[in-house]
Amino acid sequence: MSKKLKFNTIATSRFSQSDSKNNESLLTTTSKYFNTTNDSSKKTERKRRVHVKIKSEEIEDTSHSIDSEIKYEESQHVAVKEEETQVGDKWMPSNWETILENIKEMRKHQTAPVDEMGCHKCADPKASAKVIRYQSLLALMLSSQTKDQVTHAAMQRLNTYGCTPETIMGTPDDVLGKLIYPVGFWKTKVKYIKKTSQILIDKYDGDIPKTLKELQQLPGVGPKMAHICMQVAWGEISGIGVDTHVHRICNRLEWVKKPTKTPEETRMTLEEWLPKDLWSNINYLLVGFGQEICLPRFPKCEECLNKDICNFSKKDRARKKA
Ligand code: SF4
Repeated sequence: MSKKLKFNTIATSRFSQSDSKNNESLLTTTSKYFNTTNDSSKKTERKRRVHVKIKSEEIEDTSHSIDSEIKYEESQHVAVKEEETQVGDKWMPSNWETILENIKEMRKHQTAPVDEMGCHKCADPKASAKVIRYQSLLALMLSSQTKDQVTHAAMQRLNTYGCTPETIMGTPDDVLGKLIYPVGFWKTKVKYIKKTSQILIDKYDGDIPKTLKELQQLPGVGPKMAHICMQVAWGEISGIGVDTHVHRICNRLEWVKKPTKTPEETRMTLEEWLPKDLWSNINYLLVGFGQEICLPRFPKCEECLNKDICNFSKKDRARKKA
């Protein structure tokens, strides 16, 4: 199946109502990454999963660490009632389709910061497709360790100033720093943006590269950014973009066979079992879910439609009762 995505697959109701005109040029270079339509019809086409075993309650090793943001969760990996699903040789987490439908339901109003201020909303819609791709890449570079609101505001300042590889290369570091401040690690990002912009001018005629491999060779661009950039800028699905939200939630939901320590490890595990037709939307769904309900600290389990089937929540309640 061609990975090239079509314009009419990406419009959300809010997007199409308020921004469709202004974002026309952007949309032509983006994808159904932002399509939140219910694909339950596809669900029925998939092979029915068979529950093969339910292990008795046991104590898990608590020594694993996901990342510093969620270290507090380590002590909560106790008393696991583990239920797995196996299709042939392929491991799949139990209840994942129900959990996903619940997340879609909770995300249907699109009220999370990512909905209005994610990287797909940061480029100047009036710019050329080439510049939009550049600005999308820059937004992704700025977004690392930074809230969407802060990234979006920094990109608006950059766009107003003039955000092309050439103008950025002609901008002194201290001025660029002031434009992007207070994004996380802004001093390092000034250096990465400058180096990347020079490479784009020298090797790609001011455009961004069109392959995952080349994107990842740019200074400051890791796998997560590269996969999302392929999707946002080129409309191609090269893999799942796993950031700290996706990483954390996949571990809480036990969408990884064993606890994973890095987002990259989570990405590889997730890609082993999650059907490919869901890859384009999973980052967007989980990021917003992580911003509003499954928060890094103190997730709002009582408000969550998954609270009765989420092992993390069950374990948390058991721990509090103990
Ligand atoms: S029940 Fe709690 S931990 Fe589980 S998915 Fe919902 S918010 Fe996250």
